[in-house]
Amino acid sequence: MLKKIMKKSAPLKSIARKPVSKIETYLKFGFVITEIERYYCPRCGHSLNVGPDYQCRYCSQCGQRLTFDGITWKEEKDLRCVPYGQRGNICESIENRMV
Ligand SMILES: [Zn+2]
Repeated sequence: MLKKIMKKSAPLKSIARKPVSKIETYLKFGFVITEIERYYCPRCGHSLNVGPDYQCRYCSQCGQRLTFDGITWKEEKDLRCVPYGQRGNICESIENRMV
């Protein structure tokens, strides 16, 4: 039974899959709220270090083959600056932001 499952799942890694994209926000320079699209491995969820100029062909964690065909790269977008007075605690307030 177990052998069967392993045999079945082994070749799947070699079938290229599209990464999972998520829109996330981060603080650029510590005070610019920036929206960026990040990509994750569809198999193990490992965050992929990819961009318009560089795409990896395999996940460095689990070896899942990846394809970026048809993916439209979005440029990161500056949403707004954090006012001077709020620059200490902004991380907490954007952490749970739904996009
Ligand atoms: Zn992976």
